[in-house]
Amino acid sequence: MAAARSVGMEAEVAALRGRFAAGGTRGAEWRAAQLRGILRMAAEAEAEVCRALHADLAKPYTESYVHEIALVKSSCKFALKNLKKWMKPQKVTAPLMTFPSTARVAAEPLGVVLIISAWNYPFLLSIDPIIGAIAAGNAVVLKPSEVAPATSSLLAELLPRYVDGSCIKVVEGGVAETTTLLEQKWDKIFYTGNGKVGRIVMASAAKHLTPVVLELGGKCPVVVDSNVNLHVTAKRIAAGKWGCNNGQACISPDFIITTKSFAPKLLEALEKVLEKFYGRDPLRSSDLSRIVNSNHFNRLKKLMDDETVSDKIVFGGQRDEHQLKIAPTIFMDVPLDSGIMKEEIFGPLLPIITVDKIHESFALINSMTKPLAAYLFTKDSKLQEQYEAAISAGGMLVNDTAVHLTNQYLPFGGVGESGMGAYHGRFSFEAFSHKKAVLVRRFAGEAAARYPPYSAAKLKI
Ligand code: NAD
Repeated sequence: MAAARSVGMEAEVAALRGRFAAGGTRGAEWRAAQLRGILRMAAEAEAEVCRALHADLAKPYTESYVHEIALVKSSCKFALKNLKKWMKPQKVTAPLMTFPSTARVAAEPLGVVLIISAWNYPFLLSIDPIIGAIAAGNAVVLKPSEVAPATSSLLAELLPRYVDGSCIKVVEGGVAETTTLLEQKWDKIFYTGNGKVGRIVMASAAKHLTPVVLELGGKCPVVVDSNVNLHVTAKRIAAGKWGCNNGQACISPDFIITTKSFAPKLLEALEKVLEKFYGRDPLRSSDLSRIVNSNHFNRLKKLMDDETVSDKIVFGGQRDEHQLKIAPTIFMDVPLDSGIMKEEIFGPLLPIITVDKIHESFALINSMTKPLAAYLFTKDSKLQEQYEAAISAGGMLVNDTAVHLTNQYLPFGGVGESGMGAYHGRFSFEAFSHKKAVLVRRFAGEAAARYPPYSAAKLKI
């Protein structure tokens, strides 16, 4: 079975390689046509995509549209608008040493690339990297996540209707299929998911010296100073946590750090906001996604029921195993060595850690692995500067959560354990391109000192 799958996959990749070598994906017209196809797909299949996301995650329609479909559209439009500019070789200075010459950096496609995506934003995280890969002129294989099966099969059915299926393919499957895919030789692997599998991807890529982008996760801290607009702060934290797939988002706030004296006010504001957003019985709210499956539900239940933290719940705590729903749940001052503070939560649980002085948060964050996103709420510009200088993170956002990812001019990616490489906007194009150095000389401009026999006289020293 595995051997047959491997042979089949080798043949698929060879066919794609043939299409790439024949120039099938290189032309600006082909690239633009595929991008237009994706744009059409995002518009025409909106309802189907939202239905699939609801089947996989009970994702609210508004979240599905705003966080997945609209972002795909905006990414596509941005790529279409800038494609010619990105493709144009960039002239650079030609120094005296090579006079007379011209020099440029030419972006060339890498070849055949593999995109492995994750379940939490299964439409966006599949299509957004494809946009970059196509814009850069590559042939693509997408492996959507089997953990979001409705979206995975929809993608397999939809994409060939809107793009050139001879150059852009979808391979569905789980670990076995992904393992077979990873045995093939790729020109780039773009992986979104957890760091454990990220390591497997990188080890497989190393066999062929294939470069990788790893879009991973981690624990995103939110530092809340007392000098803030409290209501806006609470709303924006709640929107980035529970309003993003009920906390199942890589850039969702993972924990809050605030001062002991301010924590009760912040908690009260969060409680008010949560009640307004999801009512008194959040398990019945259709505006809250469910947990993706029973494995993740049980993982989160274990974190909540851990005896070192279960009596620290100050808000929420309700859950319904049958519906796979967990209500927004806030903990106050859990031990730093508890499971909930050691692993990425990736769900609706939010611990608040208190410190005497807000600057103590820096050392705490720096004692952990580097996060994908680091947040700070404050009106104090000095504190903002200090936070930016002290904290290393994939991205940083002051006075909001999550929305930095919508800015196409900013790279999106991790650092350290939160990942390597970045995408979005031009960074997506670059992630899937090789920057080729091109120097063109003329036959004039001979320098005798360059050629043997060498002599000081020729060098004029
Ligand atoms: P997942 O379970 O969907 O796995 C991701 C992909 O890895 C899937 O396509 C899956 O088939 C494949 N996979 C799983 N096990 C494998 C194995 N043993 N060998 C080869 N391939 C394998 O998603 P997940 O890992 O649960 O995703 C959640 C994690 O992803 C979190 O850590 C989150 O922070 C991170 N994430 C990061 C981003 C980002 O953009 N940086 C976005 C979303 C999620």
